[in-house]
Amino acid sequence: MFKRVKGLQYTVRVAAPNPGLANLMLEQFGGAQGELAAACRYFTQGLAEDDPGRKDLLLDIATEELSHLEIIGTIIAMLNKGAKGDLAEGTQKEAELYRSLTGNGNDSHITSLLYGGGPALINSAGVPWTAAYVDTIGEPTADLRSNIAAEARAKMVYERLINVTDDPGIKDALGFLMTREVAHQQSFEKALYSIRNNFPPGKLPPMPEFANTYYNMSGEEEVRGSWNSDDNFNYVREPQAGVDGADGSASVDLPGEQAADLKAMAMRTQSDTSINPVTGADLGSAGPIENEAAARKK
Ligand code: MN
Ligand code: MN
Repeated sequence: MFKRVKGLQYTVRVAAPNPGLANLMLEQFGGAQGELAAACRYFTQGLAEDDPGRKDLLLDIATEELSHLEIIGTIIAMLNKGAKGDLAEGTQKEAELYRSLTGNGNDSHITSLLYGGGPALINSAGVPWTAAYVDTIGEPTADLRSNIAAEARAKMVYERLINVTDDPGIKDALGFLMTREVAHQQSFEKALYSIRNNFPPGKLPPMPEFANTYYNMSGEEEVRGSWNSDDNFNYVREPQAGVDGADGSASVDLPGEQAADLKAMAMRTQSDTSINPVTGADLGSAGPIENEAAARKK
C-alpha cells in the first residue's frame, strides 16, 4: 500500500524561472538514468524478490526514488512556471515570448508547446520514457551489479546538472539527490556482498579452461595489468581459431531434403569469378561520354 505525504523529501527553492534549464532537468525525470527508471527498476525487482532483507531494501529505495521523481519534477515545474503562465494567457509580445522559449539555444518549446510547461515523461531531448531503460534480469547478483552501475550513472548526471546551474537552491536540492544515489550505491554494494557466493552469477559453473584466460585479440604488444596479468590469467598472446582444440569450423546436420534445397540455392546464386560484367555503375559514370569526345577529335 502506498500513502502520500504532502511535503517533499527535500525542500526546493528555485530562484527564477528558466525553461531551458528545466529541459536539461528532464534527463533525471524521464531519461535513461532518471528517477522514474530507478523507481521502476527497484520496484519490479522488489516485487519478485524472495529474500526478506533485499525485498525491504529494494522497495524502500524504489519508494525513495519516487520521492526523488517528485522533487526533480517539482523543480522542472517551478522553472517552467513563467513560461506556463505567459503561454496560457498570451499577454506578452509574441517576439518576447518566442525568445524566452528558444533563446540561448534552448529547445524548451517542446515542453512548453506540447506539455504546457509541466514535467513530461521525456528526456532532455524530448524522447519519451521507455521501460527499456530497466535492464532487470531477475537474478540478484546480476541485478545488484546493474543497480550499482545505475546509481553511479545517476550520480554522474546529477553532477553534470549541478555544474550547469548557478541557482543556489537548485544546486542544493540536486546535491541532495546526487548524495542519495551515493548512499543507494553503498547499500546495493553491501547487499551484493551479503550474498556469500555472489560470483559468478547464477548456478552453472564456468568452463574452467576458459574462465581465467585472457586473449590478446589485437595481435600486438599491449599494456599488462592485473586485468590480464600472468598471476591472475592464462595470457594467450596469439589466440588461434578453435581455442577448444578443434578447427573452429561450423557445421549443422541437415535432413536430406533441406540439404538438397540449400545446395540448389547455393548453385543458383554462386559467383562467377571469370567474368567482368558491365553494371549500372559503369553505364552511369562519365567515362563513356569522355570517350565519345575523344573519338570526335580523332
Ligand atoms: Mn534517486
Ligand atoms: Mn538511487
